[in-house]
Amino acid sequence: MEEAIAMLKTTRPTFYRWLRTGKVKGMKVGRQWRFYKADIERFLRGQEPKIELPTDIGPLLEGLTQRLKDAGGEDPSAPDDHPVLRTVAVLIALGVRMRASDIHVEPYEKTAVARLRVDGVLHKVAEFDLRLLKPIADQAKRMANVDVHERRLPQDGRIGIALRQAGGTADLDLRVSFLPAIMGEAITVRILRRDEAALSLDRIGYAATDRDRLQRAIESPWGLVVIAGPTGCGKSTVLYACLNHLVRPAVKCMSAEDPVEYMIPGVVQVGINEQIGLTFERVVRSFLRSDPDVMLIGELRNPACLMVALQAALTGHLVMSTLHSDSAAGTLKRMVDMEAPPFVIGDATRLVSAQRLVRCLCRKCSVPTEPPADQLDRAGQLARDGGLDFSALGQGFRKPIGCGECGQTGYRSRTLIAEMLEITPEIAQALRRGAGVDELRAIAVGQGMTTMAADGVRRAAEGQTTLDEVFRVLSLR
Ligand SMILES: [Zn+2]
Repeated sequence: MEEAIAMLKTTRPTFYRWLRTGKVKGMKVGRQWRFYKADIERFLRGQEPKIELPTDIGPLLEGLTQRLKDAGGEDPSAPDDHPVLRTVAVLIALGVRMRASDIHVEPYEKTAVARLRVDGVLHKVAEFDLRLLKPIADQAKRMANVDVHERRLPQDGRIGIALRQAGGTADLDLRVSFLPAIMGEAITVRILRRDEAALSLDRIGYAATDRDRLQRAIESPWGLVVIAGPTGCGKSTVLYACLNHLVRPAVKCMSAEDPVEYMIPGVVQVGINEQIGLTFERVVRSFLRSDPDVMLIGELRNPACLMVALQAALTGHLVMSTLHSDSAAGTLKRMVDMEAPPFVIGDATRLVSAQRLVRCLCRKCSVPTEPPADQLDRAGQLARDGGLDFSALGQGFRKPIGCGECGQTGYRSRTLIAEMLEITPEIAQALRRGAGVDELRAIAVGQGMTTMAADGVRRAAEGQTTLDEVFRVLSLR
């Protein structure tokens, strides 16, 4: 504080007034104020605009603070902080407390709405006067270090914060994006938890056979391993867990990502920037010149990128990547559609895994249940088609109830359901003669693959999730 006052060549009362009105940005750690040098310097250059409120922000702030309190969270702001700063801080703390993956603030015709995505589902937490959106966006922009005055172009920034929580502090990395919508700016905050980057394969929750298949594939000296699924199904979490499994001083690991989500010690990580021509293909070609043992390619985005990944795999590198597609067999066909010769795909690829995230039942409130007969029939069929003996599964079905612990949803946290297709000589041969998705899947199941649907049925039978949830996620009805 003294240093900040000295830098600004001001008096203590004036400084307090600036702080109160949000002219100077600071944060309270315990009873002490802390400041970023960059913020003070920005203020000195006169770039810190004054926050004027067109209408009372009190009800919004109180509503959010109450929700945070109900959720058992701690208000991270100080009572004399500027109310706009407090509102943003409390909204972020609420998102973290409710284990949200992202926070969305969106403008509509007369109001703006704040929503949190928890376990993949959006929940509305506030609706407020649209005129408050601008000061809130401005505050978020200052925190994210982006241009406060730019309102017509999309902008991306990041906020690094440490939030006090029961049992220590949470180290968080927030990715904030601002998008000019018709009624004002839409704000999206992705909450990345740094501790998740240290995730191990054991904690992902695969069936033992699937975990062994994946481990065998990534421990091969060369070949391509593809993790497939829609956006937000945990693909990058799995890739990071694979990298964590492989990284050690004797192994050279290089990774091309868009963007780099977590820093992993021991891995050379490069962020893709297509605007300046730094594409996946280009980065991977330059990786090859340093001859890494392991390469992570964030996404097989186009035919050129797929080709360079296949070439790298065939020339003695272990390559891991992701692809947007809905099943393991479908991923192989998608690679053919992306103009890669089937014999190259068959030779270069070791394993294709497809996955989805399903919500887990809350352990506190779920109760045993007997699913309706037609649902059980459907589940039995899916299990048998997917390589599992339904009658051998336990009948430990449970259903959601809802309690304080799970925010009355009946579900808490998520787990993966997956299918892992190993590229055996039979699969490679079927690919070469142009076999369809169903045939590829049937061969794989015949060789021991458990489909995602069957994996989901098993987890429901074990009481981890419900058949409803599995069917919802896989769009099965
Ligand atoms: Zn519960």
